[in-house]
Amino acid sequence: MNIPRISLIGAGPGDIELITLKGIKAIESADVILYDALANEELLAYAKPEAIKVYVGKRLGKYVYTQEQINYQLVQLALDYGHVVRLKGGDPFVFGRGFEEIEYVRSFNIPCEVISGVTSAIAAPASVGIPVTTRGYAESFWVITGTTKTGELSNDLRLAAQSTATVVVLMGMSKLDQICEIFTEYQKQETPVAIVQNGTRDNAKHLVGTIEDIGAKVKTQKLSNPAVIVIGEVVSLHPEYIETYLKEEIRTMRG
Ligand code: SAH
Repeated sequence: MNIPRISLIGAGPGDIELITLKGIKAIESADVILYDALANEELLAYAKPEAIKVYVGKRLGKYVYTQEQINYQLVQLALDYGHVVRLKGGDPFVFGRGFEEIEYVRSFNIPCEVISGVTSAIAAPASVGIPVTTRGYAESFWVITGTTKTGELSNDLRLAAQSTATVVVLMGMSKLDQICEIFTEYQKQETPVAIVQNGTRDNAKHLVGTIEDIGAKVKTQKLSNPAVIVIGEVVSLHPEYIETYLKEEIRTMRG
């Protein structure tokens, strides 16, 4: 009988090579893998052929299992089969409900290790050449959820809008207009914005704009989830931003 244990692993943002070596080793040893929609399924190829693979993400926009059911399954499967890998997109502690799962599992005295992953909050902007910090552009970056427990926009966004930080919003696409309104209230309508959808994946898409025009651009180019919204001066380093906005500015200045 295999000893029950759980590995909570960050699968990275999508590109399978962006998982850690430690993550791969855990997948190789797993007896069961529970994986989410944002974890690249190709990673399952590293598992033993007999390993049980359970998809616990959304199907047709609806969760297949509730969080409580996932917690329960983690424990049950560990007791029945041994090593359970819980594979989550990005990093498991960045808006991944990872800690809730660990707490539950540990209450049954089942050991649980956490293997960090590359978060989309940093990797998605980086995949299109946008650094979350750069000297002279941003001294800090905030990673904020667009959808809090109550479904509202986080109040932290209002605080972030008053700072010079790079603001990265996850799960915020359905609230993009509201987010832009908040930045506009603080006279940030000209602040550069980038949207990166499916960052680091083959089907990645991105666009750049400003608080003023990004909403319209997203509608015409039909960008949607999963995507990160990056707001801040660092976006002005992107070649498309320079091409669209700064060249125009230089031309105007030259008259
Ligand atoms: N733990 C994850 C985040 C989970 S919340 C992480 O660290 O990346 C889910 C949100 O993450 C999505 O709504 C989207 O905003 C973002 N996301 C995840 N993968 C992404 C990707 N490849 N490209 C862009 N955004 C992504």
